[in-house]
Amino acid sequence: MTKYIFVTGGVLSGLGKGTIAASIGLLVKSAGYSVTAIKIDPYLNVDAGTMSPFAHGEVFVTDDGGETDMDIGHYERFLNVDLSKKNNITSGQIYYSIIMKERRGEYLGQCVQIIPHVVNEIKERIREISRESGADVVIVEIGGTVGDIEGLPFQEAARQMRFDEGVKNTFYVHIGLAPILPSGELKTKPIQHSVQELRRIGIQPDALIARSQRHLDDEARHKLALHSNLPPSGVFSCPFLETSYEIPLMLNEQGFTKYLLERLDLEVREPDLSTWNSFVERLKKRSKPVKIAMVGKYTKLKDSYVSIIEALNHASAWNGVKPELIWIESTDIEKNPGLINELDKVDGAIILPGFGKRGSEGKIEAIKYLREEGKPTLGICFGMQLMVVEAARNLAGLRNANSTELDSNTPHPVVILSPEQLGVQDKGGTLRLGARRIIITPGTLAWRIYGTNEVYERHRHRYIVNPKYIDLLEASGIRISGYSEEGHVEIIEYGDGNSFYLGLQAHPEFKSRPLNPSPVFNEFMKYLSIRK
Ligand code: GLN
Repeated sequence: MTKYIFVTGGVLSGLGKGTIAASIGLLVKSAGYSVTAIKIDPYLNVDAGTMSPFAHGEVFVTDDGGETDMDIGHYERFLNVDLSKKNNITSGQIYYSIIMKERRGEYLGQCVQIIPHVVNEIKERIREISRESGADVVIVEIGGTVGDIEGLPFQEAARQMRFDEGVKNTFYVHIGLAPILPSGELKTKPIQHSVQELRRIGIQPDALIARSQRHLDDEARHKLALHSNLPPSGVFSCPFLETSYEIPLMLNEQGFTKYLLERLDLEVREPDLSTWNSFVERLKKRSKPVKIAMVGKYTKLKDSYVSIIEALNHASAWNGVKPELIWIESTDIEKNPGLINELDKVDGAIILPGFGKRGSEGKIEAIKYLREEGKPTLGICFGMQLMVVEAARNLAGLRNANSTELDSNTPHPVVILSPEQLGVQDKGGTLRLGARRIIITPGTLAWRIYGTNEVYERHRHRYIVNPKYIDLLEASGIRISGYSEEGHVEIIEYGDGNSFYLGLQAHPEFKSRPLNPSPVFNEFMKYLSIRK
């Protein structure tokens, strides 16, 4: 029998529910069971692809080209697996599918309703992923907080699944905030209230996890247990930590794994967390500081770049350096050109991905400075495209060269809409998405990084380097070190054999894992650590 663990949140959002769900997955996996994880997003968008990073943080891209919620990224990193776009269920998908069925006449004669039709569709989706993955344990995280109107059908589905699957095959974990007053007193009341809200919709939690500034003391634990109908051993605490990669270790120390496996009637085995532990140790021991400029335009919400930040964390742990990220808002460079001097202080820079004109000239100014100063630079997707624009302007002497995304009338369109995109009208799910093959040119920096002639990295773009300008770019010093199967530019480099100036059309950050860092980020960090 498949076991289902439902993760809900209360009190407020932003409590790290995704990393806790991922941590629970890691504990179960490390105890020798196969695990998959599902993120439910109750919003009406079909996927996260059409949302601004400011609205919902990073759009995470899966191998099969899904534009998903960033929690899918947390699951992949903790579980060290490749998930499918199917693992992210939204209300948009559920309603879309029901309305199509209704139009095809599949409900002929019936009145189509939230109960049973919407809830059945949700349960069917969860079971389908469970069947396809063959996992022993399926983690289902319901986004938002209990009490949100749009979350109700999903909570109802979770409630019904205990009825359908049985008590021993379902487990409900509820996560809430225990705030601390200025007097230092830790309060449990908000969590008590959110448990009441959960019970109101028919779910009795099997475990509580209290997030706070510190651990719960015995009194708080007993109080929460009493008000939640739980043994005190079912109440866990999870203080906000320096790194979320420590959460699995902390939950395991409190007996979470044993408690969970017993309740699910699974053989209790001690999870083997030794490699995870050594990664966390290395992460905490990082000491040699390196300053990295993060040049982008969504810098006010760091969640916009979470996979890049994590890829830097993975690589830095294995290279013993401690990155200090200096966020440079490219729109600010446009307003205040003197800001460029900030780049003088950094050891390296990342030109972040993005869309649209706003802030692009600021990024190009930053790129010019970094290239001319010989600063180690890594450009990702839009970042790489702007490296090409900068080289075209300042190395090849093409005045006003640009990407047609930013200036449709540029005299030198060095970055253009990909031919496959011509005529595409719809915005949802129509970019060039997912894992694509990159053919690497031997003897280049890219080849040294990957150590192979071809790799698969994940993509999310509409624009490409204009093939007509490749010869000119190469004549002016840019090296093309990776091509796609279609013959389009994937990787560019600049400088002598001892420099690190690299731009990728792909997003290597999406495949970086704590125990298996991205080769690109790893080499970047190694380069910075040696130069320090
Ligand atoms: N806007 C660019 C494109 O569509 C780059 C996208 C990105 O950085 N992900 O090609």
